[in-house]
Amino acid sequence: MLAYDADLELFRDNFKRYMNEHIAPHYEQWEREGIMPRSVWNSLGENGFLCVDVPEEYGGYGVATEYSLMLIEESARAGFASLSTAISCHSEIAAPYILHIANEAQKHYWLPKMVTGEVVGAIGMTEPGAGSDLQAMRSSAILQGDHYLLNGSKTFISNGQHADLVVLAAKTDPQARAKGVSLLLVDTHLDGFKKGTNLDKIGLHSQDTSELFYDNVKVPADQILGQAGQGFAYLMQELPRERTAIAATALGAIRGAIDITTAYVKERQAFGQAIGQFQNSRFVLAQAKIDELATAAFYNQNLALYKQGKLDVETAAALKSFSTDMQMKVADNLLQLFGGYGYMSEYSISRFFIDARIQRIYGGTNEIMKEIVARGMLGR
Ligand SMILES: Cc1cc2nc3c(=O)[nH]c(=O)nc-3n(C[C@H](O)[C@H](O)[C@H](O)COP(=O)(O)OP(=O)(O)OC[C@H]3O[C@@H](n4cnc5c(N)ncnc54)[C@H](O)[C@@H]3O)c2cc1C
Repeated sequence: MLAYDADLELFRDNFKRYMNEHIAPHYEQWEREGIMPRSVWNSLGENGFLCVDVPEEYGGYGVATEYSLMLIEESARAGFASLSTAISCHSEIAAPYILHIANEAQKHYWLPKMVTGEVVGAIGMTEPGAGSDLQAMRSSAILQGDHYLLNGSKTFISNGQHADLVVLAAKTDPQARAKGVSLLLVDTHLDGFKKGTNLDKIGLHSQDTSELFYDNVKVPADQILGQAGQGFAYLMQELPRERTAIAATALGAIRGAIDITTAYVKERQAFGQAIGQFQNSRFVLAQAKIDELATAAFYNQNLALYKQGKLDVETAAALKSFSTDMQMKVADNLLQLFGGYGYMSEYSISRFFIDARIQRIYGGTNEIMKEIVARGMLGR
């Protein structure tokens, strides 16, 4: 299992200090405005909090994966789920696709800019008619000499407003299903690429989520990621990391919800005593702790497997489903201990509750996660 790492703890303290200084004073306002300023990305990069596990030769710090995942976990724990998701899409999803699949020229071009925050990364899979059933995607990228002619649209793309780079799935062979899908590194500043409006969501308010449209966009042929037609194989390879990151957010959020509820039940009085003294409150809190411990154990086991290159698709899917169900359950049960105040936006437990909901949907719905686990058990 993962050993205690003093450097990691130091890095954690630095990040917490950074959030206290640079995120906490503004977060409420960003949530109200529905987006974080673009400068947050530059600030995160300048302070060394983006793509930290990217090797030094590509501009990163070359530290272990858990350093990168810690940032996701701690931002969620602090109640900044929008930030957690934003960094996750950039550092835990987009960057690893490039690091693991891109050629040297692509890595040297994109990764240093992602480390500094000059380039914001996003991942573009979902389309209006293709969510769980990604093979049904209609985006096409047809090779024409020195470029792919890209047409179609995506929806629900996290970091969509700020994105400079989208790791985008499109069919290079539109007649085929899975075997026709390829991944492209698409510069959002190319002619014909348009960002739709910032979508209005029930939670994760300052996390920009967008539709993307591309009309005869000429993507240079050298911006294909890996080999044409291998898009689905690459997805299978990289999704376990994405799902581990979603679990990091879940674990952080569970811990954050427990932190604030523990403090609240010691203060709030009813029937002449702190509400934390009622047996129900104690049992609800204890159950949340038990859920946290189980999630942490599963998460750490996953992380250890990932670091050994042994994490399979089924285990990561199981973790994603388990950890996000736990997150939702814990947030709901702990909100109850706040009574009516738990329903007030002013109390951050309400945000833990609403921001938990999406975790069971994106990154592959939890129903699809169970399909993956069952396929591993039954063979199809
Ligand atoms: C805030 C937000 C951020 C997102 N960020 C991104 C992003 O950055 N990049 C990206 O590409 N996508 C992103 N998504 C999209 C997300 O991954 C999809 O919404 C998700 O995969 C589900 O697809 P869908 O919405 O089309 O639902 P559908 O596929 O239409 O599913 C509807 C329901 O049917 C169920 N269902 C479907 N198929 C099956 C089946 N075979 N068995 C059992 N049940 C099934 C689903 O579980 C679900 O309950 C984001 C979504 C949101 C809301």
